Amino acid sequence: RAKSAGGNRSELADPEADARTITRHGLTTALPTALERGEFFIEYQPLVHLGDGSVRGAEALVRWLHPQHGVLGPDRFIPLAEHTGLIVPLGRWVLQESIRQARAWRECHGEETAAGPLRINVNLSPCQLSHPGLVQDTVEILERAGVTPDALCLEVTESALIGADDDLLKPLRRLAEMGVDIALDDFGTGYSNLANLRRLPVSILKLDRSFTQGMQQFPADPVDLKIVEGIVSLAHSLDLAVTVEGVETGAQAEQLRILGCDTAQGWYYARPGPPERLHELVLVDATG
Ligand code: C2E
Ligand code: MG
Ligand code: MG
Ligand code: MG
Repeated sequence: RAKSAGGNRSELADPEADARTITRHGLTTALPTALERGEFFIEYQPLVHLGDGSVRGAEALVRWLHPQHGVLGPDRFIPLAEHTGLIVPLGRWVLQESIRQARAWRECHGEETAAGPLRINVNLSPCQLSHPGLVQDTVEILERAGVTPDALCLEVTESALIGADDDLLKPLRRLAEMGVDIALDDFGTGYSNLANLRRLPVSILKLDRSFTQGMQQFPADPVDLKIVEGIVSLAHSLDLAVTVEGVETGAQAEQLRILGCDTAQGWYYARPGPPERLHELVLVDATG
């Protein structure tokens, strides 16, 4: 299906139709060879500064171009990769590929963008977090690419850090000390323990899409407004930046800007796409 959609790589395969033909088992057994054969690819979705509209970076989102079933989204195979442990080499590949891309962007744009060099956000699974090689792998990948740690932001979900003991937080602390940003992804969906924020080495809160959805109608839901306002003010008082996910309309963007959110991501700005697309967006941005 995705292949026939005229090369639009963002068009993910229809989960319901595919559920009939693709078994979980089939995908699971195909995963290791898929990595060897280079069937995974990454799409990038821009992160835009709400104050001035400039592109500040992008989130790397992995996809699988399955030889029979077309493009599969991460929700279809990340849970399977986590279950089998393949997430560790797959996650390492995503990191390596994204950092390579970050260097290419930096070479092109350098300090040209008004906001400084572009940053890349990479998602991290709980299994990667508890894998002993995380810090060393990350350092090596950055060094080999000649990219400074401030080019990287690792996104960890709130639920992955719930009840995390110090052993689990230690690698994240090391990375944060090196200058890697850590973002708390899907914030507000779990059992958000706001007091817990203080002991986490995070510098960015990524507010979940469900909050953005509450801003869809105009005027927005007053309760949603109050909640977001409260989260933003708490975050800022703890020196955390706030990014919002799932911005689909200009009205949402405006509302979230007024509420003091710092950066935004969503279809209103751009769907996830190939690296060339981000390149074009940054160029448009630079020339006004
Ligand atoms: P996430 O990290 O919360 O990523 C945001 C998801 O929201 C992406 O879905 C993105 O395509 C989608 N999105 C962006 N803007 C909009 C919008 O305006 N409206 C709507 N409705 N959706 C929007 P995607 O690409 O399907 O990824 C799903 C999840 O898979 C991600 O959620 C992330 O948790 C996980 N994931 C993706 N790539 C990786 C990876 O390399 N490693 C790991 N461990 N997980 C990954
Ligand atoms: Mg994410
Ligand atoms: Mg997210
Ligand atoms: Mg989310």
